[in-house]
Amino acid sequence: MKDIITRIKNMETVFYKNENVEKNPGEYLAGLDFGMNEIMDAEKRMKRFAPVIDRLFPETKGGIIESPFVSAEKLVNALYPNMKGSLWLKLDSHLEVAGSIKARGGIYEVLKVTEEILLKEELIDINDDYIKILEPKIREALSDYTISVASTGNLGLSIGIIGASLGFKSRVHMSGDAKQWKKDRLLARGVEVIEHDGDFTYAASMGRKEAEGKNKIHFVDDERSCNLFMGYAVSAMRIGSQFKKNGITPTKEKPLILYLPCGVGGAPGGITFGFKHFFNDAVECYFAEPVSSPSMLLGVLTKKYGKTNVNEYGLDNITELDGLAVASPSDFVAPLAEKLCNGFYTINDDDMFRHLYLLNKMENIRIEPSAAAGIPGPIATENLERDAYHIVWTTGGLFVPDDIYDKMILRGKIIDENSRI
Ligand SMILES: *Cc1c(COP(=O)(O)O)cnc(C)c1O
Repeated sequence: MKDIITRIKNMETVFYKNENVEKNPGEYLAGLDFGMNEIMDAEKRMKRFAPVIDRLFPETKGGIIESPFVSAEKLVNALYPNMKGSLWLKLDSHLEVAGSIKARGGIYEVLKVTEEILLKEELIDINDDYIKILEPKIREALSDYTISVASTGNLGLSIGIIGASLGFKSRVHMSGDAKQWKKDRLLARGVEVIEHDGDFTYAASMGRKEAEGKNKIHFVDDERSCNLFMGYAVSAMRIGSQFKKNGITPTKEKPLILYLPCGVGGAPGGITFGFKHFFNDAVECYFAEPVSSPSMLLGVLTKKYGKTNVNEYGLDNITELDGLAVASPSDFVAPLAEKLCNGFYTINDDDMFRHLYLLNKMENIRIEPSAAAGIPGPIATENLERDAYHIVWTTGGLFVPDDIYDKMILRGKIIDENSRI
């Protein structure tokens, strides 16, 4: 077998099983100075804000933004007739407000900042009914502050929409690869969009610099934020009732296996962090990245973590999987991923369009290309024949415009038909 770095440089799809993963994650997590308390705290904060979210976004039906969990039997028949165990989909592609997994981390961080500002200015008390946050006096106070973020698209959608809805000035620094429809959606909501020629890492550095030393601009830092991470981690405590309803009782012998699309690492990292807290060694987590941007994999392999840049390996970070087009991983998440992630695999664009098409055809579920990265997981990670609950996390797609989606479907259909000749 060729050395894995050489294969990564050649843009071959690879699987790296992480031999350094903690065998007893519970013990490892207990030694960190953040954990279960912060996850519980995040869930409680989201509950305090639920009346506000419900009023602003009635489609959330109660103000808790959560996604469906469904079985994917038809997809199994089409793709994995030999699968042992069962295949499930966690549909963060269908999360309201942001239309992607960023509805978890992104919105949570903005709620946390809002609460901090209003407590400091003594405009709310923690025991108040938070619905008063929508009163004109409080909105006006918030309009004095700016929430800023850098994004390849979806994080900007999440932060921009919630920020503007609460009354903040919202600024989104978009990388060159951001899709036009995502920018249009923000502009329509009164969010300021700053377009950069560079990639995500560059846009993030510009946003960070702009906010430096200014106390009325809060920059949501996807490469460093612990808040985002906790917003994602809450998913693990909420999924219990969905498991119960479906008779899912994971054990070390029959574990949950999660397949998670990875960009900067906050979303898959936070979910992994949450799941290992709640399920310990009865869950395994695998991260998926595009062959042109395997930044987390390289960061862990080389132990350079956040200082890794895929350009240094001759990779261009150019991919249609815009949610995953990240040249440098989060420096906060990479060392945690080294301890908690069971393995990493890479995927190519064409294959994602094919899976996007098949998911639509078999299950009538609509996702964007990045969100398909988990679908090949069971084969890519050599777990197909293990008795387990395989969970593919689909991460975005709710708001993709029809005409753009139709083109994606067509591309996937052609690739699928050619693969059968
Ligand atoms: C952001 C995003 C991811 C990955 O999240 P990171 O926190 O960047 O790792 C996956 N899928 C979609 C659709 C996304 O928008």
